Amino acid sequence: MRRMNGLLAPLLKTHFGYDSFRPLQQEIMEQALAGRDTLAILPTGAGKSLCYQLPALARDGLTLVISPLIALMKDQVDQLGASGIPATFLNSTLDPQENRDRLAAIRSGETKLVYLAPERLMTGDFLSVVRSWNVTALAVDEAHCISEWGHDFRPEYRRLRELREALPGVPVIALTATATPRVREDIVTQLALEEAAVFVASFNRPNLNYLVEPKQDASSRLTAFIKSRGHDSGIVYCQSRKRTEELAATLRTSGIAAVCYHAGLDAAERARNQDAFLRDEVRVVCATVAFGMGINKPDVRFVIHADLPKNLEGYYQETGRAGRDGLPADCLLLFSRGDVAKYLRFLDDIPEDEARDHARLQLDQMADFAEGDQCRRIGLLGYFGETWPQENCGACDNCLAPRETWDATTEAQKFLSCILRVRQSGHPPVGIRHLCDILTGSRAEKVLTKNHDQLSTYGIGKEHNAAMWAEIARQLARKNLIAIESGTFPTVTITADGSAFLRERGTVSLTRLMAAEKSRASRPLRAGDIECDAELFETLRAHRKQLADTAGVPPYVVFSDVALRHMARDYPTTDAAFLRIPGVGERKLADYGQSFIGLIAAWLETHDRQVFEPLTNFTPPASKPPKPATNPTAQVTLELYRSGKSIPEIAAERGLVETTIEGHLATAIANGEALDPRAFYTEAEEAELRAALEGYTEESLKPVYEHLEGRISYGKLKIFRAFETHQGKDRIP
Ligand code: ADP
Ligand code: MG
Repeated sequence: MRRMNGLLAPLLKTHFGYDSFRPLQQEIMEQALAGRDTLAILPTGAGKSLCYQLPALARDGLTLVISPLIALMKDQVDQLGASGIPATFLNSTLDPQENRDRLAAIRSGETKLVYLAPERLMTGDFLSVVRSWNVTALAVDEAHCISEWGHDFRPEYRRLRELREALPGVPVIALTATATPRVREDIVTQLALEEAAVFVASFNRPNLNYLVEPKQDASSRLTAFIKSRGHDSGIVYCQSRKRTEELAATLRTSGIAAVCYHAGLDAAERARNQDAFLRDEVRVVCATVAFGMGINKPDVRFVIHADLPKNLEGYYQETGRAGRDGLPADCLLLFSRGDVAKYLRFLDDIPEDEARDHARLQLDQMADFAEGDQCRRIGLLGYFGETWPQENCGACDNCLAPRETWDATTEAQKFLSCILRVRQSGHPPVGIRHLCDILTGSRAEKVLTKNHDQLSTYGIGKEHNAAMWAEIARQLARKNLIAIESGTFPTVTITADGSAFLRERGTVSLTRLMAAEKSRASRPLRAGDIECDAELFETLRAHRKQLADTAGVPPYVVFSDVALRHMARDYPTTDAAFLRIPGVGERKLADYGQSFIGLIAAWLETHDRQVFEPLTNFTPPASKPPKPATNPTAQVTLELYRSGKSIPEIAAERGLVETTIEGHLATAIANGEALDPRAFYTEAEEAELRAALEGYTEESLKPVYEHLEGRISYGKLKIFRAFETHQGKDRIP
């Protein structure tokens, strides 16, 4: 076993052209090679395939790979072939002669990996054929397909047990990106894994950037967004088949090569559209959720949700299809309350109470995620039970451009009092809509018949319209001051925190609604980007496409974008230099080295070589200090402040409350702006602040504010904290 482990790293370089393992890959391979049953739960793009492909090369005999989709099998076998690894697949698409040839190659021992569809195994006496081979390992990819609790249940996977029984003593490695405990348990039982080594990675996808925008004028927003992405490929998820067709047509009208994909298309058209996308013939697929698991395309640079996904699990899966190659990718969600209302109406038709309530809860969580002002990563990973160690992930809209906050103390008092008055009138709890109607003094029938126009809170909230009050209510619910029951008629009650807020005259600030990002000409540069000679990159891309077409494979089978980007910054013109490009192993050097080296050498005859900053190893934001936030509104405040205006003056000029202005300045300080702390608080205040905040690490400053009994404003607290955490201590000598 030692010997085999020692082989892994050289094999990784010779065959796949990579210098290092991704997290957990090596540990997983070592267990598998030691003959242990292994379960690997790693997110999409983590590099699960390698976990069984590389050991297959390191050990004698044959590795059987069970994979659910025929399209996926062919793709993987093509990729292995391009790296010089003898692999093959057996499924219903082969003609009898081809089938016989492949079986002969397997029997002769030439083949190292055989991909099989599970239904193939159970036909005729196939199991006894398998028994006659020298099978030394079994890999079950997309292992969640075995579980009815998963989202892609395949009954045929259930029969893998028979395969196991046919191959006693052969270790199994099961791989999936679905982590729910129920699915995990199912995999272990169904596959009869024995004392399995289980590996679970973080579900964070560090290279994905999460953005949510209000859904307004969606088609033009999508067109602008996609146009700003150059030649990048992406998926637009829609909720209905009709909409995928309409959107694809709209994009085409704007000159963007787009197709649609949904289960209503006939099989041939579906395959054609998918193929066009994989082969970079179209840039965009507008699709329903039917488009998914079979997509191994590593360079999907954006995933857009044009309609609200029904739950966070789906959102995570779908956005997960972006950026498998590890380069930065964007996930844009267009959110509207209208979508929520529409699905709620659908849900009413679900007959079973339990299923309906569950679906509603999931929708609520999805909407909360979209509307919330919290870090998107914290929200998303939290859903899967993971905690995110940092305040600022540096790669979501809420962290990059924190939303403005406003003091909503009065509004919160009014809303909560209104709930209280209804209750005191002896009426059972009512819903948000009803409360909003009371507050805005509506003459709606249900208000009048219940005599709610007689309540003291009737009409006290005319400064906002009902929609704004509903938004306030949802934010208060997220702050846990009120609770919204789920059910057909969700009712609102005051929580213990809410009662405390009223009793102790607390303050509360809410965030302004999210705003649409201004359309940009191009995608902003991000951490993890591989800067390169853009013109050369395009030339290499075109060359790759030609080679791929000749070979009848998708371009990424020839080289990944990562490899091309490295070529377009290192300009390799010798074999040795070409081999240093990540993704170039010996086979690819032999097949493509000359033609790419020739092209690059010719390029250098007529173009200057550009020089780039050395690449820093892209470490996920978890282990990096947060990126400075770019916040345009904070920038305006900062400029006014620098021009000599005071905080009250700026607040008046911008029509914002002072706390907000102070918040902006705190952001600027956190970003390293050199401001003078003495301008914000006296020495006495500073001492008090220091004492109160010493060792305090919670996000919320509310307890500190309360502890100081309001002597020092929130804004000052924020500013002090910004100086302390981001600009070192002892600022005031
Ligand atoms: P998963 O099945 O976990 O979604 P894949 O096996 O499809 O992920 O791998 C995703 C991408 O990562 C592929 O393009 C693969 O070539 C690349 N990859 C895998 N392992 C490594 C590694 N050690 N170094 C660099 N790239 C890797
Ligand atoms: Mg995979």
